[in-house]
Amino acid sequence: MERIYNFNPGPAVLPLSVLEEVQSEFLNYKGSGMSIVESSHRGKEYEAVNKETEALIKELFVVPENYRVLFCQGGASTQFAAVPLNLVPAGGHADYLLTGSWAEKAQQEAEKFIKVNIAASNKSENYTRIPGKEEIRFSENPVYVHLCSNNTIYGTQWQTFPDTGSIPLVADMSSDIFSRRIDVSKFALIYAGSQKNLGPAGVTVVIIRKDLLQGIPANIPTMLRYDICAENDSLYNTPPAFAVYMVNKVLHWLKANGGLAEMEKHNARKAALIYEAIDGSGGFYKGHALKESRSLMNITFRLPSEELESAFAAETTKQGMIGLKGHRSVGGIRASVYNAMSFEGCKALAEFMNNFQKKNG
Ligand code: PMP
Repeated sequence: MERIYNFNPGPAVLPLSVLEEVQSEFLNYKGSGMSIVESSHRGKEYEAVNKETEALIKELFVVPENYRVLFCQGGASTQFAAVPLNLVPAGGHADYLLTGSWAEKAQQEAEKFIKVNIAASNKSENYTRIPGKEEIRFSENPVYVHLCSNNTIYGTQWQTFPDTGSIPLVADMSSDIFSRRIDVSKFALIYAGSQKNLGPAGVTVVIIRKDLLQGIPANIPTMLRYDICAENDSLYNTPPAFAVYMVNKVLHWLKANGGLAEMEKHNARKAALIYEAIDGSGGFYKGHALKESRSLMNITFRLPSEELESAFAAETTKQGMIGLKGHRSVGGIRASVYNAMSFEGCKALAEFMNNFQKKNG
């Protein structure tokens, strides 16, 4: 069967070798006579998966000793509430950097529980860029500063993160985790839903500095508590075992392909093909993000008319490239080119863009 080029924003393309491996051991996992999805989460098979997945994240992402890696549930959206509930004592407040819809959603959810200061926002410019250092106004003594490292909808990405000194920096890395090397020690907490660079939907990875596990308010729901999750090695209740198992496979694939250093180069080369098609089009394609804020994961652009944008989306689908219709808040086209999107897929899209322009420009 032909595989298509999948440019979906998430759930998204996964490495074919991972899917094949999962398929090959689906009925009988490592000689256990049952599938991993039939195994007890307290059994030796799953416990090994749980442990190894945590270890692989620590190794590949170079997570310092004073951090815990947790597997949570409820998607990144649940973290929008969990972060303020766990971290902020009564009367405390936090700063939010607004760079897109997901950052806004995080801020709005936090406001249900705590006071929030908006330290920067480019909403009035329809989030075409990441704010510069000089535009950020931190409040006095926030408990943490929150940002979204890659804006899935608008196609912008933080290139250098703001220095928050001793104020804990919290990042939603749902759409670019493991796409590049990051100095984890600059962050107090990182979270990411799994359905883009990590695996299928179902697990949310939380990387948290251990000191933040102390003093969590007593009255927050058990399933949102980072301390309970950590004390139980992410096995407080029945975990999303299949998702964690597939994340494990994706991490092995990442490691076998040179880890984050290689992935970073691979992603830069891939995105360059499409940005070159935009920049070389003499204005036929117009990027949504300003150059210095461009995302290497989600590439957003407009065409001269909505009719041409519809024709572009329809024609690419016919040619086996799917998921390219942009989000309604930006319009146009969005190509999501996560880790598992191949160079060939990006090349096929760039060639299509050049040909489409020749025919319609
Ligand atoms: N944050 C970002 C940056 C996202 O892209 C998404 C999903 N597209 C979310 C949060 C929400 O994730 P979930 O659906 O896992 O709650």
